[in-house]
Amino acid sequence: MNLPDFPQQGGCQCGAVRYRLKASPLSVYNCHCKDCQRFSGAGWSMSMIVRDEDFEATGATVQYRRTADSGNVITMNFCAHCHGWLWNDPPAPGIKVARAGTLDDIDWAVPVGNIWTDSKAAWAAIDPSLVNFPKGAVDRTPLYDAWTRLHQD
Ligand SMILES: [Zn+2]
Ligand SMILES: [Zn+2]
Repeated sequence: MNLPDFPQQGGCQCGAVRYRLKASPLSVYNCHCKDCQRFSGAGWSMSMIVRDEDFEATGATVQYRRTADSGNVITMNFCAHCHGWLWNDPPAPGIKVARAGTLDDIDWAVPVGNIWTDSKAAWAAIDPSLVNFPKGAVDRTPLYDAWTRLHQD
């Protein structure tokens, strides 16, 4: 699986917020938590972990501070105009969790795992060969390692 040339770009539906991803993300995976189902209006959302220094966004955003089941407060960032969900600031320092579906080109953003499979839809099929967690991934290292393995020749 080949990575594209960076930077890659993405943004919200109306185009007011645009971002540049200057290097490969650390991982891409699916989150099946109930909050992601509600926010995405779908069975899961695609999380793309990016380093702060690799991610540059322009345009006005609005924030919503969501208290997760874990008690962690997660800042969610949306376009101020169309309110498209773009990225989260998790408690972990140095990273953002961007929504992979907002990339202009999502062909290369292949999910390497699934988290919160305990709350997945009954019809959602989980590939057992991926890196899967019944709840959240307290340590994301296995998801980072799986992304690295997928992209080494
Ligand atoms: Zn917008
Ligand atoms: Zn989630």
